[in-house]
Formats: sequence, C-alpha cells, structure tokens
Amino acid sequence: MKSYLLPQFAVHRDDDRCIRCKVCVSQCSFGVHAYDDEDDEIRSNEGACVGCQRCATLCPTGALVIRRHPHEFRPNANWSEEMLLDVKRKAETGAVTITGMGNDKPHRVYWDHLLLNASQVTNPSIDPLREPMELRTFLGRKPDGLLFKDGRLITDIPPQVMIETPIIFSAMSYGAISYQAQLAFMQAAQELGTLCNTGEGGWPMDFRRFGRNVIVQCASGRFGVDPDYLNQAAIVEIKIGQGAKPGIGGHLPGEKVTAAVAATRMIPEGTDALSPAPQHDIYSIEDLSMLIYALKEATNYEKPISVKIAAVHNAAAIASGMVRAGADIIAIDGFRGGTGAAPRVIRDNVGIPIELALAAIDERLRREGIRNRASILVAGGFRNSADIIKAIALGADAVYIGTAALVAMGCTLCQQCNTGKCAWGITAQDPYIAKRLNPDIATRRLVNLVRAWTLEIKEMLGGMGINSIESLRGNRLHLRGIGLQEWELEVLGVKGAGQ
Ligand code: SF4
Ligand code: SF4
Repeated sequence: MKSYLLPQFAVHRDDDRCIRCKVCVSQCSFGVHAYDDEDDEIRSNEGACVGCQRCATLCPTGALVIRRHPHEFRPNANWSEEMLLDVKRKAETGAVTITGMGNDKPHRVYWDHLLLNASQVTNPSIDPLREPMELRTFLGRKPDGLLFKDGRLITDIPPQVMIETPIIFSAMSYGAISYQAQLAFMQAAQELGTLCNTGEGGWPMDFRRFGRNVIVQCASGRFGVDPDYLNQAAIVEIKIGQGAKPGIGGHLPGEKVTAAVAATRMIPEGTDALSPAPQHDIYSIEDLSMLIYALKEATNYEKPISVKIAAVHNAAAIASGMVRAGADIIAIDGFRGGTGAAPRVIRDNVGIPIELALAAIDERLRREGIRNRASILVAGGFRNSADIIKAIALGADAVYIGTAALVAMGCTLCQQCNTGKCAWGITAQDPYIAKRLNPDIATRRLVNLVRAWTLEIKEMLGGMGINSIESLRGNRLHLRGIGLQEWELEVLGVKGAGQ
C-alpha cells in the first residue's frame, strides 16, 4: 500500500561544505542517508527522518541542517496536522500508535506559574558559598514521636536511606534503555550519593555492586525478582502505575529482548516482555498491604518499601490508603513523565499534572496526621532546579528526574525510544548502536547536571534565608501563584502574588 504520510523533517545538505566523509550515513540508525558511488553524492530519504539531530550534530563540517518540513495542510481549526497524520497512520497500519518519551501537549506547566520568595531586611539571606547548606534527605517512615529513657533514644527508627541531594534518577528498565545507559545511571548515583531506579526489567548481576544507590522495582511482570534482587537494593518499590501510561501495562517488543535482557528478566530470548495492567494479586488496599509486608518480610524489615502510582484524579485518597497500608515511601508520577513505549492516546490524555497531585497528597496526609509515616517522591517532567525547589516547597521529599537526565546524555526527545533504533545509543539494544553511548562520558554529564542543579538549589535556599532543605519541605508560604484561577490556587494551597 502506498503511504500517504508526508515527511516530517527536511534534510538540507550544503554541497560546498560536504566532504563526503559518510559520517551521516553511518550515524543515522533510521537509514536516511546513503552514499551513491557513481555520482559521488549522498542522497537522503527524508520520509524516514525522525529529527533526532544525530547526523547534524556529528557532521564535521556543519553541512547538515534538519528542519521541520515546510509542507502545509490547508488550515482547519478542528483538524490539526497531527490529527490528520494520526488518522492516516492508523489507516495504513490498523494498529495502536505507539510512541516514546512524555506528553508533549501544551497543557499548563504549574511550575511556571509559581514564584519563590526571597529574604529582604529581616530574616537575612544566607551566602551558600560561606555558610553550610544542608541538602541531605532521609527517605523512609519517620516515627510519630521520639521516646528517651535515661537520656537514650528508645524509639525504634524505621529503616532510612540517606541521599546527599534531593534529586534521584527515575525508573528506567534494562531493555527499555541500553546496558551502557543503565551503567551510567548507577555510576552517577554512586558518585553523587543519590539513587537510581532499575525500573521493572530486572537488574543485571554485574550492577549489584551499586546496591546502596539503587531502588529496585517489583512490578506486575515480576521480571527478575528474587531474594537477592530484593536484598541487594537500598529500597524496594512496588510499581502500580506510571505517569506516561496510567492504567495500562508495559510492553517491551521481542526485538529488544536480547540474550542479556532475557537473562536479566528471566524470560526467553526474543519474546515480548508483557507487564499486565494490574498487579494480579492487588485488588484492594488490604492486598497492597499484604505485598508491602511480604517484601518487608523478605528483606528482614531492613529496607523502606515504596509504592509508585501515576498521578490520577483521586491520587490523594489512594496515597492515604498506601500510607495506611504500610508504604514507607510513596512515589507519584505525573502525566508529563517519560516512557520507553506507550500508546500515544493514553500518554496524551490520561492523568493529571504532578504539581496538582503533589499539593493534594501532601495536604491530605498532613490533614490526616500521617504525613510523617511516608516520604513523598515525585516525578514527571522536571526541567530545572527551580521546578525541583518548588516541588519541595509543595511537600516533596525528593524528585525523580528522567527526561532531563536523558537529555544530559544526548537525547533530543525524538520520541523513537520504542523502535530500539535510538541514534544516541540510549534506548537501543542493537550492540552496534548501543555502543555509541560511552558510559563514562554519560556518567560525567549526569553528575555535572545534578551538581549544577544542587548548587542552584543552595543559591535559592540561601536567598530565602533557609540553610536546610528540611525547613522548606511543604512550606508553601515561600510560594506565590501568578496567572492562576482561584480553584488552582486552592488545590496548590498557595496565595496569589502580592497577597
Ligand atoms: S540521524 Fe536523525 S536527524 Fe539525521 S537523518 Fe537520521 S533520523 Fe534524521
Ligand atoms: S532516548 Fe533516543 S530514541 Fe528516545 S527520544 Fe531520546 S534520542 Fe530519541
């Protein structure tokens, strides 16, 4: 069937600059460029270009420019170009449209409508270069109170995991990302004194040496879950939902299930790795509680147990149930969170922004007097240090970063993660392509990003006259809303600017 889909990107090659080095031919994993021996020319099949910018970035003479294709459909207020393309794509394939990365719709980003406070005259600001700033964060259940006898603490303190900065790396499974990318996350988390997350795809044996800095997941597919997996990690996370695809399961296509991925997931090579939509043993808060305590039992009550859900309409009530069920940490993933693969219609239409979910959850747990019983981790499209510090003021203990971390490694948000052809080697399983990502260079870039954001967080804290992140946690007096409606200010629990 002839395709009616027009190219999305145009490839412009400056012939005067092109030296026929063929770097673009070897680097494009989507097969766009080909060298024609006879004419000594490089030709490009624009229809295959996904706009990942790999070729333009590596072209030694800057001869390539990749632009959005200028072709235009007749303007129609009801039918955007994207909608037309989606209908045509389905008419050609008869399949659900699958995509990678997070929601790219222009929904309101509440972080951009929240402003931070600064000290003036009274309560003077603090210079973070000259005075210590405490960013250390302890994740896990805190006791309701402390009891002392003869000057000694006699309250049992539940297991805590200390991180040096309130920034941790999001769950990304081996199989969805390459071995090299997961190694970079583990090395960076260790160097920074923070955490990364294996995602639901098991944990390669040679990465278990990073255990103190690793959260492992127990998801509906139970890939790779055994006693060693649980006991070598710092935290065990039960994955109920994911921000990019609330309510549905996961699917790693058989092409990405190499021998190594298969061994890690404990499934046959080349078979599709399907995670069911629900955890088949959880149909109530009581069932969740049984799994939480089964995992506590399996880890000798030595590790905090986290429960991760997608941010949905009634997230606050669900979170309250999770804490009462025994979760030591609750992780909430907003609808801008990324994914290796998700149906586009789910990614773009299901869930709520993390800002609103976080504010509602923190407020509810405080109102019920159980906020101390669980740490709150939030995820879903954190773009800079200002987003992170605002999340902490709204009640988060720490923030998961995923998309930003991938961008630090080279990702250009081309949304082709599900194809296994990531030209940057991040989400590729083909050994030839995956090797493009040097884990040591990627580690350095991740460490640099988190260090820079951590320094900026210290600057902002100092400006507010605060020397410990603990003093900002849930302190919404340091936030003001701008350009928001009454109901939005009410959900966020902040006053408008000038009030
Ligand atoms: S490398 Fe990326 S930007 Fe360049 S032609 Fe291939 S798909 Fe397009
Ligand atoms: S990880 Fe790779 S395939 Fe996925 S969006 Fe980024 S550059 Fe594209």
